[in-house]
Amino acid sequence: MPSDPCPCGKKVEGTPRKYEECCQPIHLGNQVASTPEQLMRSRYSAYFYALGQYIHDTHHQDYRGNTSPEEFTQSAESTQWCHLEVVQSSQQDSSGVVEFKASFIDKDKLHTLHEVSNFVFENDYWLYTDGQFQPKTSQKINRNQPCPCGSGLKAKRCCL
Ligand SMILES: [Zn+2]
Ligand SMILES: [Zn+2]
Repeated sequence: MPSDPCPCGKKVEGTPRKYEECCQPIHLGNQVASTPEQLMRSRYSAYFYALGQYIHDTHHQDYRGNTSPEEFTQSAESTQWCHLEVVQSSQQDSSGVVEFKASFIDKDKLHTLHEVSNFVFENDYWLYTDGQFQPKTSQKINRNQPCPCGSGLKAKRCCL
């Protein structure tokens, strides 16, 4: 896991970053997300690894409702996350916006969530508040085509 490519798909000069060099130190609390995009990526990776406590803690308490860390874990575990694409991101002093597409697999289909997320900087931490959701799109995955996760393998040998 630590030496796998990070689920968030972050690349540096075309080379995928390893989880242990990307989102893991943030998940472990050894590093703080320094931008809204970095926080958003780490939240996606937390969904990928079903780290409910992290998902809970990085969601602003005024916005996350009564959802418990365990419930975040359960919901993340029930979804096979596959791919993240950050469309664009921006930040001001204490707020930021990240537009992204997050895809998951259900049976033979790839479902893509398209969200514009809002973030605030409070007490030295970036936090997710809420987002505007575009309609979900779905497409059938061709088993013999490159896997949508970007591994370079055929889908049938990878995430399907
Ligand atoms: Zn990452
Ligand atoms: Zn794959």
